[in-house]
Amino acid sequence: MLSPIDGRQLTTLATASAGDVDRACASARAAFEDGRWSRLAPSARKVVLHRLADLVEKHAVDLAVLGVRDNGTEISMALKAEPGSAAQTFRYYAEALDKVYGEIAPTAANVLALVHREPVGVVGAIVPWNFPLMIGAWKIAPALAMGNSVVLKPAETASLTLLRLAELALEAGLPPGVFNVVTGPGCVTGEALALSPEVDVLVFTGSGATGRRLLQYSAQSNLKRCYLELGGKSPNIVFADAPDLSAAAKAAATAIFRNAGQVCVAGSRLLVEASVQAEFVSVLAETTQKMTVGNPLSLTTQIGAINSLPQLEGNLSFVTDAKNEGGTLVAGGARTLTETGGWYMEPTIVTGVQPDHRLFREEVFGPILAVTPFATEAEALRLANATDFGLAAGVWTANLSRAHRMIRGIRAGVVHVNTYGGADVTVPLAGTKQSGNGADKSLHALDKYCDLKTAWIQL
Ligand code: NAD
Repeated sequence: MLSPIDGRQLTTLATASAGDVDRACASARAAFEDGRWSRLAPSARKVVLHRLADLVEKHAVDLAVLGVRDNGTEISMALKAEPGSAAQTFRYYAEALDKVYGEIAPTAANVLALVHREPVGVVGAIVPWNFPLMIGAWKIAPALAMGNSVVLKPAETASLTLLRLAELALEAGLPPGVFNVVTGPGCVTGEALALSPEVDVLVFTGSGATGRRLLQYSAQSNLKRCYLELGGKSPNIVFADAPDLSAAAKAAATAIFRNAGQVCVAGSRLLVEASVQAEFVSVLAETTQKMTVGNPLSLTTQIGAINSLPQLEGNLSFVTDAKNEGGTLVAGGARTLTETGGWYMEPTIVTGVQPDHRLFREEVFGPILAVTPFATEAEALRLANATDFGLAAGVWTANLSRAHRMIRGIRAGVVHVNTYGGADVTVPLAGTKQSGNGADKSLHALDKYCDLKTAWIQL
């Protein structure tokens, strides 16, 4: 496995074969059936999840550095977004798990109908490389909280923090067999997990192309439920009446360029009112040119590495296509820091991007911003929704009524107003359209990890 920081060999990882995956699933199933975790009192499960949060916090710096070395996220961001939010997520679901009640239904007087919430059994989880610990915790914590067993496959280019998490889980007192990690490529290890008849529910974060395959694997195997958190092409919409255009321009740069654009909710399409476009793009380009691209382990780096060479090459192909389709490059556009041996790209801004251009339609998952002007609120809304995706959006305006109209009109899981990218574990992240289904985070996520069972009792 190569490090994106310098392109050198970092470590080697085992490829779990289909047989290995079967063994992991059998171990998860056995643990579930004998009740070592699934039938433990909720108060006891809660203690273990809190201890795991404590251990993640205790080892936060080590975990952040380990993750940066294999995925390339800038360390300043990784510290907060990876161990920081993973610990918060384990605490949140530890606290939630003994506050989830069943129901008594309002039936006729001669019947008592109870609705039990039961763990689903074995949860398969497949996660991407951009924030493995955070996204992994979004799946693992609510799944374990409800009493399930888990088999998780991390991305082949970002497995180390999740392997370490499995060690910490044992140290926290999670019984062996309840949480299993299998490493390897998607087409071997991931496919075997998605096809396994032992997996009751599959939770996934990654690309739409893989999401489609997982639905096929489900259909070919046991019709396991699949919850997919997929990509985005999120509009960041700036009206001329934004409270502070200069602040909005700086925020627009962060919205796309943090973690080198490798953020599912990145504000990758800037829709800007034509009357302020020139002024806005000028501040944006100036801000972008001052951003430091560099070694992600340096505290002063604002834009870290691209996760892999194929990903970097894919990003550059978007720049070539954008120019060929008539876009104008106003910042960046090239690979940089080649002397390091690592994979770095300049933050890139392309103006004049039209709705039929590739850069408008397809997710790059890299540091490239597409800029498109609009004349009216109706046009802004039309452009915002002119995409197959529906993950996130931003709206900058001082007009409260317009802000609410846009929130209602935009089809996305989250709409930010006069900011971009705020989130925490208390609110759901849920895609619409081809950005996915189901929700990560918040109490709503618990529904994915429970079956409802009715007991109908004649009195
Ligand atoms: P990817 O789909 O290539 O890989 C994701 C995971 O799926 C990896 O673990 C990979 O090994 C596995 N995989 C690949 N092929 C597989 C197969 N045939 N069977 C089973 N598993 C397989 O995605 P990526 O490049 O790692 O991640 C980037 C994508 O993730 C982007 O589209 C991004 O927007 C999305 N993402 C979404 C969210 C969200 O919350 N909606 C968050 C982060 C990233």
